[in-house]
Amino acid sequence: MIVRKSMAELEKMRAAGLLVWQILNKLKGMVQEGVTTYELEVEAEKMMHDAGARPAFKGYSTPAAGTKFPFVLCTSVNDEIVHGMPSQKRVLKAGDIVSIDTGVQLNGYYGDSAITVPVGEISEETRRLLEVTRESLELAIDKARPGNRLFDICGTVERHVTANGFTVVREFVGHGIGTHMHEEPQIPNYIDRKNENPRLKEGMVLAIEPMVNAGAPGTRVRPDRWTAVTEDGKNSAHFEHTVAITANGPWVLTRP
Ligand code: MG
Ligand code: MG
Repeated sequence: MIVRKSMAELEKMRAAGLLVWQILNKLKGMVQEGVTTYELEVEAEKMMHDAGARPAFKGYSTPAAGTKFPFVLCTSVNDEIVHGMPSQKRVLKAGDIVSIDTGVQLNGYYGDSAITVPVGEISEETRRLLEVTRESLELAIDKARPGNRLFDICGTVERHVTANGFTVVREFVGHGIGTHMHEEPQIPNYIDRKNENPRLKEGMVLAIEPMVNAGAPGTRVRPDRWTAVTEDGKNSAHFEHTVAITANGPWVLTRP
């Protein structure tokens, strides 16, 4: 069942969403050559603590991983797609891209968002990968309106990505969000005919998150059981927003 939220609940989700935006905006400004992904983690955890929010990722576990995720951020560099772990050993260098994904729980409600940030000068192909991934998210957000269907969102991402010569990841998907970080429905970045195609209604809140590979769509998970990487070693980009469906159209809760 897809839980629909009242306007009072959406206002709470807005507060969580804005905190996530503030954190990502701060971290984006910190990204440069020589910075470690662990420094980003420390800053994010401090900001969550100062705001009285609970980190949504730290302590999160899945049956596949079998362990609790130990950080407040997922930092996924270059061929890492999602669920990369911050590390004092991971020093960012010019030409890298780093996906920073984070979520908080504030007053009982979750916000979840991700950005991919270039480090110094990046190649033209990688710049285009980031641009196309960001565009696919914006186009999908515009479909988050009452009366449309879930597949409108899924298909929009897939079409824009493939039309530009990149591929969508199939093993990881977006999700409904609210009083739980992961609620129904699942939101693949392609049309999965095995899934239902519900009509979108006011009060639904969706975390839409295109994960786009420069090369082949294949993925594997590293022995740490969390870090998902591209099979072919090529770069992958990831952008995400938490979006409420309202009578006035999409309300992106995770940006001002
Ligand atoms: Mg996320
Ligand atoms: Mg998410």
